[in-house]
Amino acid sequence: MGYTNSKLVVYKKLSPNHSGKRTHAIDRITPHCVVGQCTAEGLGSWFAKTSTQASSNYGIDKDGRVGLYVEEKNRSWCSSSNANDQRAVTIECASDTKEPYTMNSKVYATLVKLCVDICKRNGKKKLLWISNKSKALNYVPKSDEMILTVHRWFANKSCPGNWLYSRLGKLATEVTKQLGSSTASGLKASSLKDLSDADVIKKVGALFTADMKKSGILASVSLAQFILESGYGKSELAQKANNCFGMKKSLSGNTWSGSVWDGKSVYTKKTKEQNKDGSYTTITADFRKYPSVEDSIADHSAYLLGAKNGSKKRYAGLKGCKEYKKAAKIIKDGGYATSLTYVDKLCSIIEKWKLTQYDVKSGSSSKKSIDTLAKEVIAGKWGNGEERKQKLTAAGYDYNAVQKRVNEMLS
Ligand SMILES: [Zn+2]
Repeated sequence: MGYTNSKLVVYKKLSPNHSGKRTHAIDRITPHCVVGQCTAEGLGSWFAKTSTQASSNYGIDKDGRVGLYVEEKNRSWCSSSNANDQRAVTIECASDTKEPYTMNSKVYATLVKLCVDICKRNGKKKLLWISNKSKALNYVPKSDEMILTVHRWFANKSCPGNWLYSRLGKLATEVTKQLGSSTASGLKASSLKDLSDADVIKKVGALFTADMKKSGILASVSLAQFILESGYGKSELAQKANNCFGMKKSLSGNTWSGSVWDGKSVYTKKTKEQNKDGSYTTITADFRKYPSVEDSIADHSAYLLGAKNGSKKRYAGLKGCKEYKKAAKIIKDGGYATSLTYVDKLCSIIEKWKLTQYDVKSGSSSKKSIDTLAKEVIAGKWGNGEERKQKLTAAGYDYNAVQKRVNEMLS
């Protein structure tokens, strides 16, 4: 693919500080903090000096203007890592001079635009943020994926500063959304509208099993919460906003990390809350809106794992808890629900539908190889279409990997 430069550029001063042509195709974006509220011109003259021995592909100045210093086809000297800079588009962003190296709203808005533009021109449909350094650096992006990396992984510094670092998840989500691929492939609650209760459970069960593998929260309990709070996915909030757990825009006094919610999409409605004396009060509130049920499940789990009350985790002990009665009590005691009979309700739903069948059983199943599974799929042991996907996912296998092997074997 031929390399191009961004049309967002309003100032260009090419720096002599670069290594010539890249040796690796672009599949990373590395945003940095300048450590100063610079102008595009000021940054340009700094990089123009050979004594600076540094550069970046782009700079975003304090007014959100974009400067070009090293063309995208060339490798900039920016992230203290040859391997990273060979494949990354590097962007210096005007920031404060001290931790958390805050960037103003113009800078951030331009960063979103520039990332969208870089992804588009380089054939990418998704921008990913993987906060675990070794996972991120070992991740092999698919041909349509771009990943974010940070200077602090390669040198003993804070760059891009904690202000931007804490927003990289949001940045990735926002850019991906603008690229139009979001989680468009996920399940929409609207598809549950005409299904029986039993069919809804069959349809979403595997999603909770998959979530438990990531979060460590019992699938049976989260699934029971889903049933109770979304009325089998048929509540107004679920149907209109894929919000299956009544997650409000902001939850008083709580902060947590790992949210997949984009931070701005909301659905406003009236809601009833039960008081300590059992009476009800009606309030109007903003609720989170998600592109899919999967996102709602992921955000709910991130909340349960990360929500704090002061410095204490609200739901300590929930991750890894293997008894649903105990898990339900941890959730109620942490202040999740105002209903006085919440624990009993959850437990009776779990028992009625035997939801523990969706919990991940540890140590029992010995894993089969992809080849073995592919042969079983071809022999018809895993059903077809959606059923096959659900069964394989519920059994803890990577459906896409198995299906890929099946296709190879059949071609
Ligand atoms: Zn840096």
